[in-house]
Amino acid sequence: MTKQSETPRWQELALGTAVTDPGSARYNRTGDWRSSRPIWDFDKCVKCGVCSIFCPEGCITMQADGLPLADMEYCKGCSICMVECWTGCIEMEEEKE
Ligand code: SF4
Ligand code: SF4
Repeated sequence: MTKQSETPRWQELALGTAVTDPGSARYNRTGDWRSSRPIWDFDKCVKCGVCSIFCPEGCITMQADGLPLADMEYCKGCSICMVECWTGCIEMEEEKE
């Protein structure tokens, strides 16, 4: 398995690099191009897993306690989880850097 430290940053990708092939996302740190990040209000979360299902990067995993956790190395800040969360417990926050 490729270690994350061995994968290229997005600035190092060749022009036209395919990141749409099945399973290709794990080889590219898609979190590098994020300009905003999802913030959860877990008091509102009903642990349904919908955000995890719709995340195009597959970077949201449901934890043992039933709450979702996003891997920020791969979250690209697309906001789909926020849109799909029907309880409104996800907000997008602009990245500071
Ligand atoms: S913003 Fe949400 S849906 Fe989009 S990549 Fe990040 S965790 Fe996944
Ligand atoms: S969709 Fe919303 S309520 Fe459901 S698990 Fe995700 S954050 Fe929680």
